[in-house]
Amino acid sequence: MDCEFLVIGSGIAGLTCALECAPHGRVVLLTKDRLPESSSQYAQGGIASVWSPDDSFESHIEDTLVAGAGLCHRDAVEQVVRDGPERVRDLIARGVRFDVGGDAEHGGYDLGQEGGHSQRRILHALDATGHEIIRALTERVRATPSISVRESALAVDLLLDRRAEPAAVWGAYVLDRETKAVHRVVAPATFLCTGGAGKVYLYTSNPDVATGDGLAMAWRAGAPVANMEFVQFHPTCLYHPAAKSFLLTEALRGEGAVLRRPDGERFMPRYHPRAELAPRDVVARAIDNEMKVHGYECVYLDISHQDAGWIRARFPTVHARCLEYGFDLARGPVPVVPAAHYTCGGVRTDAHGRTALPRLYACGEVACTGLHGANRLASNSLLEALVYAHRAAAHACTARREDRAAPPALAAWDPGRATTSDEEVVVTQNWDELRRFMWNYVGIVRSDRRLERARRRVELLQEEIQAYYWNFLLTSDLVELRNIADVAECIIASAHHRKESRGLHYTIDHPTSDPAWLHDTVVRRGPDGRPRVVPPEA
Ligand SMILES: Cc1cc2nc3c(=O)[nH]c(=O)nc-3n(C[C@H](O)[C@H](O)[C@H](O)COP(=O)(O)OP(=O)(O)OC[C@H]3O[C@@H](n4cnc5c(N)ncnc54)[C@H](O)[C@@H]3O)c2cc1C
Repeated sequence: MDCEFLVIGSGIAGLTCALECAPHGRVVLLTKDRLPESSSQYAQGGIASVWSPDDSFESHIEDTLVAGAGLCHRDAVEQVVRDGPERVRDLIARGVRFDVGGDAEHGGYDLGQEGGHSQRRILHALDATGHEIIRALTERVRATPSISVRESALAVDLLLDRRAEPAAVWGAYVLDRETKAVHRVVAPATFLCTGGAGKVYLYTSNPDVATGDGLAMAWRAGAPVANMEFVQFHPTCLYHPAAKSFLLTEALRGEGAVLRRPDGERFMPRYHPRAELAPRDVVARAIDNEMKVHGYECVYLDISHQDAGWIRARFPTVHARCLEYGFDLARGPVPVVPAAHYTCGGVRTDAHGRTALPRLYACGEVACTGLHGANRLASNSLLEALVYAHRAAAHACTARREDRAAPPALAAWDPGRATTSDEEVVVTQNWDELRRFMWNYVGIVRSDRRLERARRRVELLQEEIQAYYWNFLLTSDLVELRNIADVAECIIASAHHRKESRGLHYTIDHPTSDPAWLHDTVVRRGPDGRPRVVPPEA
């Protein structure tokens, strides 16, 4: 056995799991890139938590339920909201410096307010909250001797004891991206903290590491996956080949920025009485519609009618980043596209972060805890990751004290007759094709016909990927391609199944909500490897 606790992923969920488990045994923390690289690191707004005496648990619960459009699990919402302040205090104790400036009644912290929240409850560190959280937690992790960090270590698949039913998880096969060797890490408890899957789509605000690896690994091992049709799209990401995932904050529209077509015409007033200030989903759908109907590659965000000095002072970071790519916000419109931002669905977990597979936990964006339902309330995701990482670690540590079972015989990695590929172009081509048809057919606005097209294409791609996968030695691009294809299949199957529009899932064939669909969509891997929808529990 290599350790007592294997943690896969080094965002807020993974770092928290590692720190919580560290006093109880040896921890191996794997991360496929460098330690800080994660969505957590780029979180801008902050972390929602009931902090002010004017606020209440009931209010935060109510706001979350409203955003979730009828699909939140009330017990999960209560759990996250009520545990929230305690977990935020843990962060502060671990050295996170949130902005101060509020009155003493707010504990001295400056509390922000965001869309959908009826109170000020967002703790933040300027507009770089994630960076500050990850800074403090990585410092702690590096200073903890019982945590062994392995960077450039890509988990490929879970190590399964198939004699158990369902299969029990005893760690993972891991590709060392530098030596290209695959080895096993054996542990009696494994935490998937691998984040979301924005890279399934052509345009995303997520970093390159967000390829849904944990979700795909759990899925292949037989775990149920829930609510994958609910993908949140951010309306305005900078459109430039080199600016892969740079968001243009919604505050720009709050300060008067308007959206224009390439011919200069403003289009939002035709879509909503509040024009550019309509809810995020409405704006994203309107942009998508303009792009699809007219075949535009992007639309434009324009705040240049405001005073140039004021723009530079109010939006220094955004202004500077846009200039790097040759666009001056103060002088003219900037090209934007909507972008996949957050995966509400994930590996189904319980109140302790347990998946359906023994010894496997999932925390953070990879999991579907029931908190978000059909739409995520802003700034609830960092909180969810913290709360469930804490609960899962507590559960695993107690379980370990009571269960000292030695690992069973586990299969070594079998590279078969795989050789080095001389056709890497196949991988690049398939990556591009998959992300493009997911964007066009399974994006912000869906239809039965588009979903059917996507289903046929993903099945063809899957055949090609499978053949390639077993013939050639592993590379991280190939492992990730297989994972985004599995995630794409789950999204397509879930979206195809839901014959209504609700929250983030919008289809022109069924444009209204229907109370008959007030339940989660759960899919499992069928014997043929394809997703099967599990009928809702009576
Ligand atoms: C631009 C942006 C802004 C956001 N702003 C906010 C905000 O203000 N407030 C908020 O609440 N939420 C925000 N979110 C969402 C929030 O940041 C994420 O939901 C949250 O950080 C997810 O944390 P996590 O620990 O689950 O995953 P991540 O932080 O994404 O970490 C995943 C980790 O897993 C590693 N990994 C993945 N696959 C493997 C593998 N196969 N092997 C080894 N390692 C692997 C990755 O390298 C990474 O270290 C934002 C997201 C983005 C992209």
